[in-house]
Amino acid sequence: MRGLKGKNVLVTGGSSGIGQAIAVRFAEYGANVAINYLREREEADDTEQQVEACVSRVKQEGVRHVLVRGDVSKEDEAIDMVAQAVEGLGGLDVLVNNAGIQISRPTEELSSEDFEKVLGVNLLGAFLCAREAIRHFLDNEAPGCILNISSVHQRIPKPGYLGYSVSKGGMQNLTTTLALEYAGRGIRVNGIGPGATITPINQAWIEDPEKKEQVESHIPMGRAGTADEMAGVTCFLASDDGAYITGQTLFVDGGLTLYPSFLTPWSSE
Ligand code: NAD
Repeated sequence: MRGLKGKNVLVTGGSSGIGQAIAVRFAEYGANVAINYLREREEADDTEQQVEACVSRVKQEGVRHVLVRGDVSKEDEAIDMVAQAVEGLGGLDVLVNNAGIQISRPTEELSSEDFEKVLGVNLLGAFLCAREAIRHFLDNEAPGCILNISSVHQRIPKPGYLGYSVSKGGMQNLTTTLALEYAGRGIRVNGIGPGATITPINQAWIEDPEKKEQVESHIPMGRAGTADEMAGVTCFLASDDGAYITGQTLFVDGGLTLYPSFLTPWSSE
């Protein structure tokens, strides 16, 4: 993909699922990657091995990678993590805000701690990392790119997951507001909105054929997406082919945001 070779990219929550696939794809296109993990270095072993295997498979030479620990929801750790990525890679051109969690609970039983926990990782964490990346871009008078991994639930309500829905709705505004604030200073901010994607966050239904079929029956294209399909679109938005795009969220969802229940007419017969 044009314009990614030699770029320095930080992926938060890069130790599994969509974040892992994004780190591997950037490496495939010749970018250097900083892979953020939450607690133990071993969490990121699998991503590291996949990045190394990918780099040798596609014969990309000189691609560097570093592993950077940090909880994005804690201000001091987020600051330190972005600084480590800058130091380890020798700069930063692209931030991918991917770290995310969800907690399922009927709202009448939802504690303020659990609500705050989800907002802390998905929204506060994205803001903190974005702020640190923006400071770096501005200090260096260099262009930069931020990609927010949001969700179809920035548009579609998700009952029973209030913190998650609210955090992703907020992420949409984070994307548009930052995009407008920094468009004149060479910083692009975009998002992707994955639909149901096969990753560990969805363990509850992936390994249960009955539940999987139920999930997939709601998707117009009839199947869940793969982490690699999310990674390809993320890389496109960071590439030179996406150079004139800012403030957008691209839904990568097999048609889930197309109001699928209108496929069969029911409202105006
Ligand atoms: P995942 O559980 O595999 O990955 C989440 C990653 O975030 C993990 O690496 C985890 O260690 C990391 N993380 C969690 N809390 C963190 C913290 N405080 N600090 C740093 N890292 C932290 O799930 P995934 O499906 O790959 O999710 C990645 C992103 O994609 C999330 O933002 C999620 O909301 C979004 N998303 C996923 C789907 C889906 O169906 N899988 C759909 C829409 C959006």
